[in-house]
Amino acid sequence: MLFFRFLIRGLHPRLPTVRPFGATGCGAVFSRSNQAMRVTSYPSRRTMLLSLALGLTLVLLPGDLSARAPQLKRYEFSLPRMGTIFRIELYSSDDATAAKAAEAAFARAEELEQIMSDYRQDSELMSLARQGASAPLPVSSELYDVLAKSIRISELSRGAFNVTVGPLVELWRKVRTTGRLPSASELAKAKALVDYRNIELDGTRRTVYLKRPGMKLDLGAIGKGYAADQMLALLQSQGLRQAMVVAGGEVAVGAPPPGEAGWKVALDTPNVGGGNPPCTLLLHDIAISTSGDSKQFMEVNGKRYSHVIDPSTGWALEGMASTTVIAKDATTTDALGTALSVLPVQDGIHLAQSLPGVAVYMVRQAGNGWKRYVSRGFPKGCPGQQ
Ligand code: ADP
Ligand code: MG
Repeated sequence: MLFFRFLIRGLHPRLPTVRPFGATGCGAVFSRSNQAMRVTSYPSRRTMLLSLALGLTLVLLPGDLSARAPQLKRYEFSLPRMGTIFRIELYSSDDATAAKAAEAAFARAEELEQIMSDYRQDSELMSLARQGASAPLPVSSELYDVLAKSIRISELSRGAFNVTVGPLVELWRKVRTTGRLPSASELAKAKALVDYRNIELDGTRRTVYLKRPGMKLDLGAIGKGYAADQMLALLQSQGLRQAMVVAGGEVAVGAPPPGEAGWKVALDTPNVGGGNPPCTLLLHDIAISTSGDSKQFMEVNGKRYSHVIDPSTGWALEGMASTTVIAKDATTTDALGTALSVLPVQDGIHLAQSLPGVAVYMVRQAGNGWKRYVSRGFPKGCPGQQ
């Protein structure tokens, strides 16, 4: 069904983590290939809008681009996927190319959701949970790939990120509706099924074997990042190198917009600076994610619980916090964001600094105030850095 919708270019950002249309400001430049940082100022730009539809929202923003690339126009598309809003921004010379590529990228996200969702009973992940303990089961290359990556991050973080956390997630989802905290025996029962070492992968046969009946995999802390990477790769394979994909809090960016040093990304942290982001980065050919943002939580008996669970205790994390990770791809930043939310701060900093190309910026509640912890290698320009 065709529909037309007009959007006004973001004076007010629509997504918390990324504020690519911020007004004139300064930021650090950071990329996978070029770790050098510098301060750049941005010109403000005029806004023009045109929207068309294919079930997508498309915004055409022909800003005052540099004279060297006058034929490139800026496009923005957004669509709900994986329980959040996915957004694509890209530069293209014509409407048809832009719309076709965006449509293909969203279709890719839909395919991945059908594989990885734990809300859809007919997803590949759910059917694996139903049969996984009977025998090694052949799976799609995508599910195999994302599980192999999940196990690697589970190992690196010693289970702080744990892809077998499903039974605990299920328990804590019930808390949302009942308002009653899980009992010690419920926690123990669920925790007994949470161990990533009970997943056996066979790369030759591309099979997955869940060794214990009742195990439940959860890709909630890696799937959106994986989708963002796949979508960006698809856009780039169609020649659209200057593109950004935002999947909720996971962001994958390609080559910088024409005439600019990078994509503007504002850090999403708890309400430390009265709601203003603490800093804006300029990024290209890299990924950035924020975990533990202030929107995903529940309150029970006056205490605030996160949707992230510490698998070693079975308890949801308490209090407000944010963990922003930068790495070469969004699969890594998404999963590491969760891992570093769970680990004690110094262990998290240590882990980030031991991994090439990884950097982290953490904000934690300390009494009535906030503390910031920043790893070596995080782009300069954000408060709290040495
Ligand atoms: P967001 O969904 O806001 O990006 P995360 O990336 O941190 O946040 O993912 C949180 C989701 O991951 C939870 O909703 C749950 O499904 C799952 N999860 C919770 N705790 C863990 C954990 N310790 N390891 C792996 N996945 C987790
Ligand atoms: Mg995440």
